[in-house]
Amino acid sequence: MILPIVAYGDPVLKKKATDITKDYPKFDDLLVNMFETMYNAYGVGLAAPQIGLPIRLFIIDTTPFSEDDDLSEADKEALNGFRRVFINAKIIEETGDEWAFNEGCLSIPDVREDVFRKPNIVMEYLDENFEPQKESFDGLVARVIQHEYDHIDGVLFTDKLSSLKKKLIKGKLTNISKGKINVDYRMRFPDQKKKR
Ligand SMILES: [Zn+2]
Repeated sequence: MILPIVAYGDPVLKKKATDITKDYPKFDDLLVNMFETMYNAYGVGLAAPQIGLPIRLFIIDTTPFSEDDDLSEADKEALNGFRRVFINAKIIEETGDEWAFNEGCLSIPDVREDVFRKPNIVMEYLDENFEPQKESFDGLVARVIQHEYDHIDGVLFTDKLSSLKKKLIKGKLTNISKGKINVDYRMRFPDQKKKR
């Protein structure tokens, strides 16, 4: 089932999400629905708060991203087939010199801005079977993970922009909250006036 993706301005996107346990109700259905929702919107990552659930869960499949012709062969190879479920994830190490990459977000359609992040991370998380994992990631894969990880901490990429950039996109963000935007996937807008 394709779920509506909550748009910028919804308070659930600002909440620090909470850990879940193995007995989380209908977890398997939730995962299936989240993957379906992400693929339908041509996203490469989706965090539970983006479908209205303040829990520490996000999914990633960077395969569509690997088809970008501007990327190096090494990047393409790293992105192709990278699919993970991250439950109760923790970034335990973040190292290297910050680098800029133009990010976007399914909750903030048509806004893309350069965001600075460190290139190397070490993560502890539970996989889809609630088995503990410890893994390192780098480059664009780390970038996608860091973006989704921010979501479960209630942080959006727009929070990381300079105050000037924030001012410049303010009007756009207000319009997104109101649903004044063309988007080809299902969304829920916090400030949309009810249609009569
Ligand atoms: Zn996002």
